[in-house]
Amino acid sequence: MKFATKAIHAGQEPDPTTGAVMTPIYQTSTYWQKQPGDNKGYEYSRGTNPTRKALEDCLAALENAKHGLAFSSGLGATDSVMKLLAPGDEVITGDDLYGGSYRMFTKIFANYGIKFHFIDISKPENIAPYINEKTKLIWLETPTNPTMKIIDIAGVARIAKAHQILLCVDNTFASPYLQNPIDLGADLVMHSATKYLGGHSDVVMGALMMNDDELYKKLWFFYNATGATPGPMDSFLVLRGIKTLHLRMKAHCENGRQVAHFLKSHPKVDKIYWPGFEDHPNHDIAKKQMRDFGGMISFTIKGATLEDTYKLAGSFKVFTLAESLGGVESLINHPVSMTHGSIPKELREKAGVVDSLLRLSVGVEDIDDLLEDLKQALS
Ligand SMILES: *Cc1c(COP(=O)(O)O)cnc(C)c1O
Repeated sequence: MKFATKAIHAGQEPDPTTGAVMTPIYQTSTYWQKQPGDNKGYEYSRGTNPTRKALEDCLAALENAKHGLAFSSGLGATDSVMKLLAPGDEVITGDDLYGGSYRMFTKIFANYGIKFHFIDISKPENIAPYINEKTKLIWLETPTNPTMKIIDIAGVARIAKAHQILLCVDNTFASPYLQNPIDLGADLVMHSATKYLGGHSDVVMGALMMNDDELYKKLWFFYNATGATPGPMDSFLVLRGIKTLHLRMKAHCENGRQVAHFLKSHPKVDKIYWPGFEDHPNHDIAKKQMRDFGGMISFTIKGATLEDTYKLAGSFKVFTLAESLGGVESLINHPVSMTHGSIPKELREKAGVVDSLLRLSVGVEDIDDLLEDLKQALS
């Protein structure tokens, strides 16, 4: 099946009891057992729920994976991956990670004796010096947040395979519509389904997709044993959101392209980060591993102080100043004070996250209104 068909149908059949075409919200915690253990495959909704199961099968199909697991948030999914590790293990990861992942790694799992190396993995050759017999996981995000570096997934996967290191890709920014890390050699894909998968800024959820049966069993065990599983209503919302993922992504990409070109030629804009530009340092890899370039764009304002940037960020009328991304509505974010507040100044400035940086999640409104809004805010 092709992507659009999977987005609409994968994991979903008319409900066997009523024939309902849309998967019902099975708002139940527990299930009847004729005799102990004699049930229809469902016992308790922390472990399994039919609405969530339909979503998980759909999520797996979107990433061309055998298994999918839905979590109560993206960080809940990340937390479960980290629980695959033991004290003494080492992780190699990027130097401009999502702030919440960085916070979890440094403030929680570092205390459990896990060592993290934050490096520039947009050059895969940087990885080798950090590999030793304790290296168990490479965790990467691409495009990175917020400076849109592109990591060569297949290149990193070759290194990971050669050393039998697990590779997990946070595919939130690209969405499965633009990029499928498992096809490129990754073992695990993580999503904040809060973003493009849900797509309507009305739900917080996470997902993991994988092929390996053992890995699936372990991660399912963690999710059942520690309970970071989403409820049926949230599962329904994401299942519904996914039905238009391909339509929304097409529009995000087209609007993103126009906004990126508008900003590039604007006299007040200094740096601009969008992988669709030919002069983007990783454009060739982006072209190779992504189907289009997405609607996430970051830029800096020439000579702007922190105060100037605050003022500008507050002057939009269509773009909403808010955290998060990937919804139908356009959002503007100031990483230094919002999403990346928990990353030390020195580390974030090294990664380009400076005071005058703004990040856009270009939505699917009419492009004329979006360009007009940017024009007035930058005037
Ligand atoms: C939002 C986000 C997360 C965290 O997901 P939540 O659903 O907010 O827990 C992780 N990675 C990236 C790239 C994100 O944008």
